[in-house]
Amino acid sequence: MTAVVTGGAKGIGAATARRLASEGATVVVADFDEDAARRTAAEIGGHAVRCDVTNLADVERAVQTAKERGGSVDVLVTCAGIIRDNLLFKMTDDDWNAVIDTHLKGTFHAVRAAQKHMVAQKSGKMVLISSTSALGNRGQTNYATAKAGLQGMTKTLAIELGPYNVNVNCVAPGFIVTDMTRQTAERVGVPFEQFMESVAAQVPLRRGGQPEDVAGTIAFLCSEDASYVSGQVIYVAGGPRT
Ligand code: NDP
Repeated sequence: MTAVVTGGAKGIGAATARRLASEGATVVVADFDEDAARRTAAEIGGHAVRCDVTNLADVERAVQTAKERGGSVDVLVTCAGIIRDNLLFKMTDDDWNAVIDTHLKGTFHAVRAAQKHMVAQKSGKMVLISSTSALGNRGQTNYATAKAGLQGMTKTLAIELGPYNVNVNCVAPGFIVTDMTRQTAERVGVPFEQFMESVAAQVPLRRGGQPEDVAGTIAFLCSEDASYVSGQVIYVAGGPRT
């Protein structure tokens, strides 16, 4: 099995790369941060590709690397992501464009590049990464819009690619302990431990998530146990929010 994980150098992407590798996958770790991508790839015997998902040529190179190294493109997981939070009246065009381009255009590039191989193979699994922010979150007009859009993308791709035996699903995490959540704590000016304690108090399971919690669900969706699951959004958020 060959997998491409965008944003695979750190956080949820790195945990996913490790988990898929532990299940025997040859993993291409495609990330903006080339040094971190190399470290993660070295740890799991995978391949690092410097990739900005907003750049089509970078994404196509990452997918092509999977094909060349493993002979097929079996799994795509799109974890590359950023936040640029601000209340609407302070949100700049740059904040909007950077977030929309990274999540929506970046994922569009990746799924379009991967489907070429998956359709020809008549098999494949894609997992897109949304967020509980898709349900609405103060200060995240850009991010919530992008993450809601990815849920629509998932359902549409499941319809288009299902006839080719390609499953497309979406995982929507809640608060997960990564650099991204550290950035949020920093922005609101609260020490990280304290920030996570206040998050945990709002979560039915009374804890923040770990990247491995999300990676486990992604791995399930990429497995044969999920072969009849497609077009679904699975919240990995410690319990109901709506
Ligand atoms: P991290 O910041 O830990 O990891 C994201 C990785 O994506 C980083 O290595 C980052 O590189 C990379 N990246 C950013 N922009 C690009 C780009 N244009 N092209 C390629 N790689 C890029 O974040 P998480 O692991 O927390 O997030 C992973 C995904 O999960 C994201 O889509 C995020 O929105 C989503 N998510 C996270 C939640 C959380 O609580 N952590 C909750 C819900 C969803 P660099 O560091 O150099 O920017």
